[in-house]
Amino acid sequence: MSLLPPATPTSGQPEAEAELLEPAPLFTGACLCRAVRFALLAPPERVGNCYCPDCQKNAGGPGQTYAICPNTSMRITDPQSLSRVYVVLKTGSGKSKEKHFCAGCGCTLWTVVATRPGARVVRVGLIDGGLQRLLPQVELFTSRRPGWIPPVPGADQWESAPPAPD
Ligand SMILES: [Zn+2]
Ligand SMILES: [Zn+2]
Repeated sequence: MSLLPPATPTSGQPEAEAELLEPAPLFTGACLCRAVRFALLAPPERVGNCYCPDCQKNAGGPGQTYAICPNTSMRITDPQSLSRVYVVLKTGSGKSKEKHFCAGCGCTLWTVVATRPGARVVRVGLIDGGLQRLLPQVELFTSRRPGWIPPVPGADQWESAPPAPD
């Protein structure tokens, strides 16, 4: 798997270097301190909102907006090796999940769930313009969504988790 060249620490711009190696990414993103960066070469498989208790705690708010991104279309740069993993053992599905985060700023990057090996569940707020450009197609754990947040028009609504794919 090829990686993007290390980003210049002082650069606040999305990488242009990727164009030298591969087609220009559709999306770029980074953690809060911008030490961990990534590029998406293809649109996410699916975008959703999750209002489960874990996502609420992790976000410190009503929930999280996520994008399921196949590993094959994602490029990550972490020149300082700041990415860490916290394994969540107690989950609604009973299967553990990996929560990846940046040790430099504490920002959650993505999760890797047992039901979707080969993909990362990326936090859309980390994607440049992601919250404006990516519309949620599904909403999970809507039973825990605060009353002051309306459903996303047209998005599938699940009171808890959707049926697990086998
Ligand atoms: Zn960071
Ligand atoms: Zn959740």
